[in-house]
Amino acid sequence: MSLRGGTTFLESVLQTLKRAIELGGYPEEVYEILSRPQRIITVNIPVRMDNGKIQVFTGYRVQHNNALGPYKGGIRFHPEVTLEEDIALATVMTFKNSLNGLPYGGGKGAIAVDPKKLSKKELEELSRGGYARALAPFIGPEVDIPAPDVGTDPQIMAWMVDEYSKISGHNVPGVFTAKPVILWGGNPVREYSTGFGVAVWAREAAKKLWGGGIEGKTVAIQGFGNVGYWGGAYWLEKMGAKVVAVTDSKGGVYNPNGLKLADVKAVKDKTGTVMNYDASGTRKITNDEVLELPVDILVPAALENVIHRGGNANNIKAKLIVEGANGPTTADAEKTLHSKGVWILPDLAANAGGVVMSYLEWVENLQWYFWDEEETRNRLERILLDTFNRVMNRWSKLGTSQVTIREAAYVEAVDRIYNAMKVRGGWI
Ligand code: GLU
Repeated sequence: MSLRGGTTFLESVLQTLKRAIELGGYPEEVYEILSRPQRIITVNIPVRMDNGKIQVFTGYRVQHNNALGPYKGGIRFHPEVTLEEDIALATVMTFKNSLNGLPYGGGKGAIAVDPKKLSKKELEELSRGGYARALAPFIGPEVDIPAPDVGTDPQIMAWMVDEYSKISGHNVPGVFTAKPVILWGGNPVREYSTGFGVAVWAREAAKKLWGGGIEGKTVAIQGFGNVGYWGGAYWLEKMGAKVVAVTDSKGGVYNPNGLKLADVKAVKDKTGTVMNYDASGTRKITNDEVLELPVDILVPAALENVIHRGGNANNIKAKLIVEGANGPTTADAEKTLHSKGVWILPDLAANAGGVVMSYLEWVENLQWYFWDEEETRNRLERILLDTFNRVMNRWSKLGTSQVTIREAAYVEAVDRIYNAMKVRGGWI
């Protein structure tokens, strides 16, 4: 997963960081500090499985940098996670949180496990006993605030917040975000916040790229989980785009005249995959084909390094790529696409709706005061639009043909972290 087309995800992140430091004219020491995490915690978690035997799972929490505030970032449950991947994801979180003006540093956690292969009881024990208990001394609302990522969800956050609260002897809602709606301001916007952010970024970029905006533009989406569905499907369609292809981990479907998304979603919910959607004019496609379709907008919303120079970057036809996933494009592939005039809206900007919503939920938790859905969504959109405008300004100042949007976003992000480290003193 991490090595395709020659560049690992971490290498791509570090290459971009290095370039951003040059572009922004920051001292080289900034690279020394930000190219490695402040702290890496490894936990080995024994779980009594339903068959009576103990199985030990290995998990990590990478705390990358906290110059701007508590570490913040999700927890990934996936069979192929590695420490290197977790470091890359934690590093991106530091920049994502800074870029969006949040009072957070960056972190990320992971457990090497396929959650679909565990029973509910085993999953609860792994999340509660294992992860929350093992990490309790290292997390907290002012220390490190985890949230969901690939393979984790609000139910898992509920178990973890309950375990942490029991250890603390009182309720501590602000230690995990993206909790179920019933729990302390687990806000209804949260379910679709990442996807909403993807759609807002696509809409704003489309206005600049095509003048006329997003109406009628064709979209292909790789990944039909939380981000792909809400971002690609629901919100982009609501904003007037035409979704013609979607895939999930098994493959997907393509109809050049547009898909009936509600029906595709119903098939996915019922049978576990969009592959079983069968309507006239629709054909099956693979996860590689979806990236190369003749569409205006491509939303990679699954895993990293799917667009790589070793193979497909030259075959991509979309003019606008919106990174719903973290790290779907390698640095090499990005160079190829940029030279062809393709706009890539980078992960730390395009999929930040999730963590910005996490921030709003955390603020609610700290105040024990809650906003309704509309007020919350308006606050979320305001923050996203502010980031969009800052990134676009920075990009045009740096020169759109020499610099990628990701590099401009990194400069914007590093600027805030560098200045915080400098003014705090003792960092740099
Ligand atoms: N996992 C999401 C991300 O990569 C959300 C993290 C959070 O809310 O802390 O941005």
